[in-house]
Amino acid sequence: MKVYLCRKCSSVAEAAANPEGKGCPAGGQHDWTYCGEKGKKVHLCRKCKVLLATFAAPADFGCPEGAYHEWNYLAEEGQDRYTCARCSVSVGCASTPDPKNCPAGGIHTWKKGK
Ligand SMILES: [Zn+2]
Ligand SMILES: [Zn+2]
Ligand SMILES: [Zn+2]
Repeated sequence: MKVYLCRKCSSVAEAAANPEGKGCPAGGQHDWTYCGEKGKKVHLCRKCKVLLATFAAPADFGCPEGAYHEWNYLAEEGQDRYTCARCSVSVGCASTPDPKNCPAGGIHTWKKGK
């Protein structure tokens, strides 16, 4: 399975090949960029706040906030829900996500819970 991101609406799609282009909420066709193979490593872009679970570090081109993503590895995908009190990003991880590079600046303040 491959992971794609639309740089217009920030939608994430998982598909074997290029996903359907129709119906982008930002208007017209989605503009999909291939990000990487689906995996269990959760990454967050500091610029666009998109979360991707990929096998290795996602591709850095096609950031909705302009030019290149700034990916940071958070943790392995899991059942525990962590939400950052500063940037409001919410993620399901197997352990406490890495605190570095909060989109709100400085470090994340992760709170475990629903
Ligand atoms: Zn789209
Ligand atoms: Zn980005
Ligand atoms: Zn944060």
